[in-house]
Amino acid sequence: MTDALNDERAPLFTAPGQPSRIARIEISHHQCELDPPFPAAWDSQPRRRFPATLVRVIDSEGREGIGSGDVMYGFDDFRHLFIGEDPLDLERHAGVIDNIGFHAGRCWPLEVALWDLAGKILETPVWRLMGGESNRLRAYASSGTHRPLEEVVALAEQVRAAGIPALKLRFGRPRLEDDLAVLGAVRRAVGDDLELMVDCNQGWRMPWDVKTPWQFDQALEVARELERQRVYWMEEPLYRGDYAGMARLAEATSLRIAGGEMTREPYEFREMLRQGCLDVYQPDAVCSVGMLGLARLAREVVDAGKLFTPHTWGNGIGVIANLHLTAGAIGPDGAPYLEYPFDPPEWTPEKRDFPLTTPLLADGEGWLTLSESPGLGLELDEERLAATRASQATYQ
Ligand SMILES: [Mg+2]
Repeated sequence: MTDALNDERAPLFTAPGQPSRIARIEISHHQCELDPPFPAAWDSQPRRRFPATLVRVIDSEGREGIGSGDVMYGFDDFRHLFIGEDPLDLERHAGVIDNIGFHAGRCWPLEVALWDLAGKILETPVWRLMGGESNRLRAYASSGTHRPLEEVVALAEQVRAAGIPALKLRFGRPRLEDDLAVLGAVRRAVGDDLELMVDCNQGWRMPWDVKTPWQFDQALEVARELERQRVYWMEEPLYRGDYAGMARLAEATSLRIAGGEMTREPYEFREMLRQGCLDVYQPDAVCSVGMLGLARLAREVVDAGKLFTPHTWGNGIGVIANLHLTAGAIGPDGAPYLEYPFDPPEWTPEKRDFPLTTPLLADGEGWLTLSESPGLGLELDEERLAATRASQATYQ
């Protein structure tokens, strides 16, 4: 990482010549039909639409930065805080977005767009702006459903055949025995050819779902089963605020404990580090803390001997933003696998990345490679975006 990223008092980047100004910030919502509906494991309502919110920041030279992720609720009241500012003043912009998050909604996709614009102004890919030496990380296939056993086994075989080295399964079926049967069958089918992760999805809920999260004893019972199946990490086994429980569980099991995908504040992550809650930290730059804050946090996590690998469930712009941040800030030693949402037939790279002209695809050994183009290297499919334009970004 460049020195500037480690020194909060110095400007991060300066423009070659006269700085440009932020001229406009445009936000648009899009929805893709999902037919049949997508039965996301963490959502009690099957999803009939896949929403995406696009953020575009245009500077006085007509250059455009692109971001996506959270829905940008409440942003209109704060847009004026950015207009006329130097787009390269990323430290300041991240601070304002952090303040907005306290008073209104999470607007981190704007920060992603500002990084993309900064890369275009400086004619450098973002992973390189962040000090990265390599533009690639290895994927893990992240499934998103509770399919029947045979179908999950078939998915595991497909992932193995594609050269992807790891697969994340979802727990949370009505009967734990069914989750365990799926895990056991997958392990039998692929042996040790794949690393397996298990996401318990107990950290947070959708607004309409008030089911109580697992308690420590239940999480420990599941952990013992996962140990037997040589699971690589156990994700979100407890409520996100149960620091004591996570620390106890991390101590009690040989498994890596993963979490923090929707945790909002840097100080929460630092407290979790201090208490030894997690072995794998998973914040998502398009949902919380942002690329600059997470680049710094990623280094702290790795310096503490832990892994950092962001949540990326959403469209490909989020996957790519998190890939830049992770490759740029820490590289593969601190992030052996990056989340690659993959659960066909409903969840293919083409559908996931519908805002883009080209989906992000893992190569035959599971590597995800970022382009050398300036910024995030994204190309929007404007026709598709026009055809999917919507007044809201909801799942129904
Ligand atoms: Mg998760």
